[in-house]
Amino acid sequence: MTDNIIKLTRNNIQKLTPYQSARRIGGKHGTIWLNANESPISVSFKSKKQSFNRYPECQPNNLISAYAGYVDLSCQQVLVTRGADEGIELLIKAFCEPGKDAIIYCPPTYDMYRINAQIAGVKIKEIPTLKNTWQLDLLNLELNLNEVKLIYVCNPNNPTSSIILKKDLLLLLKITLGKSLVVIDEAYIEFSPKESMTCFLKDHPNLVILRTLSKAFALAGIRCGFVLAEKKIIETLNKVISPYPISTPVIDIALQSLQKDYIKLMQNRVLDSNSNRVWLVDQLNQISCVEKVFESNANYVLVKFFMYERIFQILWNKGIILRNQNEKVNLKKCIRISIGTRLESLELIKELKKFSKNNIY
Ligand code: PMP
Repeated sequence: MTDNIIKLTRNNIQKLTPYQSARRIGGKHGTIWLNANESPISVSFKSKKQSFNRYPECQPNNLISAYAGYVDLSCQQVLVTRGADEGIELLIKAFCEPGKDAIIYCPPTYDMYRINAQIAGVKIKEIPTLKNTWQLDLLNLELNLNEVKLIYVCNPNNPTSSIILKKDLLLLLKITLGKSLVVIDEAYIEFSPKESMTCFLKDHPNLVILRTLSKAFALAGIRCGFVLAEKKIIETLNKVISPYPISTPVIDIALQSLQKDYIKLMQNRVLDSNSNRVWLVDQLNQISCVEKVFESNANYVLVKFFMYERIFQILWNKGIILRNQNEKVNLKKCIRISIGTRLESLELIKELKKFSKNNIY
């Protein structure tokens, strides 16, 4: 019977290695979770709705309007989704012909662009960013646009935490106009708000932006994200989205989080996270098992270690859970560390110092 089930499964799904999310990899015993770029601080909300017998609206007007207000766009330029992950998937569903079209992404980057394309049977083209600067390889991108419908660019990039130059993004939009959509994943943009491309939406019909409440808004648990794009693109995505993607309690909480006071609180948490990051980077730079700390622009920092494997394991055993990046393109010996509270960072530094003292490099 098991064999039959495998035979029934689509070929590409048989071969697929699913996304290794922080929660899937484990670390449940951990006490300090620095592996999923979540907010270390929780914000409490009370659900105001008491009755759930009716389906919610597919695209709740009040939520769309609140987010449109937050990003200074019109309601017609906003789609609400089950996290930014659903946005990545819907774009492939709506724009890519399986077996014919392709997507481009620029590793090392977020894995879900590749995985969604593989699930859909859509071809992938990897154009790595330039080593060390992590900037776009525009020459190779231009040479590889054949059959490409979507180009995913993560900015700030996960896991490098680097920023792509705005002039390069604008050039990419120019050379792809009429051929491909450029999808800029701004999941972490609140940590580097000046880098946002939302103001370019009005002049660039092939620009799509992904957003989420999972990071700076501290709401990873409710699963709520947004796609920002011109009206025609939003209408197209509305054709393929499921009938009731956002549950009533999620709409309720997301709406509250977008009120002025809560946005101010979010911005204060971002300031805190950014100052914790400066402290952590400074401390890391003084530790001898650290080979390199990469410049960070978000709520995580990429670090290259001497003896990265032992460090990762020792910290794991102590309940400090980080994200190993060694298998990714150009990231040998690298570990990604989410910015936690100052207390969590202190604990991490204490353990790294202890490790350095007992080992010589
Ligand atoms: N894009 C990037 C770059 C991410 O790191 C993540 C979450 N890890 C997502 C999208 C997905 O976010 P969401 O929780 O909104 O689905």
